[in-house]
Amino acid sequence: MALTRDVVETETRSYVTGLRCRLCRATYPERPVAICEECFGPLEVEYDYEALARVVSRERIVARPPTMWRYWELLPLTAPPRVGIETGYTPLIPAPRLGEALGLKNLYVKNDGVCHPTLSFKDRVVAISLSKACEFGFDTVGCASTGNLANSVAANAARAGLRAYIFIPERLEQAKILGTQIYGARVIAVRGTYDDVNRLCSEIVYTLNWGLVNVNLRPFYAEGSKTVGFEIAEQLGWRAPDAVVVPMAGGSLLTKIHKAFAELQRLGVIPPARPRLFGAQARGCNPIVAAVKEGREEIRPVKPQTIAHSLAIGDPADGYFAARAIRQSGGWAEDATDAEILAGIRLLAETEGIFTETAGGVTVAVARKLAEQGYLSPEETVVLVITGNGLKTMDALATAPPISIAPKITELERVLRDFSEGGSHS
Ligand SMILES: *Cc1c(COP(=O)(O)O)cnc(C)c1O
Ligand SMILES: [Zn+2]
Repeated sequence: MALTRDVVETETRSYVTGLRCRLCRATYPERPVAICEECFGPLEVEYDYEALARVVSRERIVARPPTMWRYWELLPLTAPPRVGIETGYTPLIPAPRLGEALGLKNLYVKNDGVCHPTLSFKDRVVAISLSKACEFGFDTVGCASTGNLANSVAANAARAGLRAYIFIPERLEQAKILGTQIYGARVIAVRGTYDDVNRLCSEIVYTLNWGLVNVNLRPFYAEGSKTVGFEIAEQLGWRAPDAVVVPMAGGSLLTKIHKAFAELQRLGVIPPARPRLFGAQARGCNPIVAAVKEGREEIRPVKPQTIAHSLAIGDPADGYFAARAIRQSGGWAEDATDAEILAGIRLLAETEGIFTETAGGVTVAVARKLAEQGYLSPEETVVLVITGNGLKTMDALATAPPISIAPKITELERVLRDFSEGGSHS
């Protein structure tokens, strides 16, 4: 705990130089805006890499507690974090049984389905963006969400004593609605898709002085996703993997994992490498995958129709940059049908004992296709990014009721005979 206090209370030097437009390169001071005034391009946090190169080292990182804050210098806070102090550093799990099923000998699963406190990688982006909201002095926060972000903003806002307004599309899993309301957040279902919700939220920030984590706080929010990449490299023994399979909604997570590996190389923390980034989407909402496969820069919005609600963004904000990162890294993209998503969920559960949500099913199903098509090869180190927990999307799965018996050994023996005839239980 002493070390937690070290990072949280004393190491508050920031290496941020400001915000920069990703299209026209215009610069801005740090403030809660996400869009360039010159060209309407997205803004990104900029750091002083020369200063960072002098301070960032493996030794400094490993001396800190196992949370996302061990990469403090590469994150955009200027004051100690107010929320998510225990977030991050989820397990990177060797997955030999899943690897055997997919024909990959060095396969790993990064399991953010157990991220603290709301069981998805969104806890990382919320830890940054709500802490930033406190720095900027907002007392009301919120988000446009496909589910997991709603859970995380609501929980973390409750802990920080902030008022939260959460906007969701009307069609969402029950567990994700309940898992938002329970924290006392004001939940508003908008009749429409996520893209309609997002459009409304973009208007809200012009009329109300609220900190919406993925709207006006988006440049800071997005930086939180880098910690997935930092942790993967550290947990592999300070090296980048050969390939990473990442689920995409808005496309932010994929671009930030790409950026994380690039930053660690630039700062000499890991040796030079060329990790390939592979994007995964549902067939029923695949605007980024389609752009990659057809070799075009422009992203054509779609109307989502998939059980993978957490990935159902038809007009992805970072789609252009995700497609570019995939292409530049030498990766590829694939999609999965609803049936393949469910098979992916079951395969991960049955081989590695990890129950993921529909987004994780997308990742596993797409990894299977990429291996079959030869984009991933057997000897390479491959990481599947599992971003959420299966207990939140149980509506998508139908299970048979369990076999029921009287409390008698003779009945059990009969059932065991049936099982061994069925042959599926070894
Ligand atoms: C939000 C989300 C993603 C994708 O996030 P983007 O950064 O918008 O691409 C992936 N998986 C899960 C479970 C999510 O909730
Ligand atoms: Zn611009």
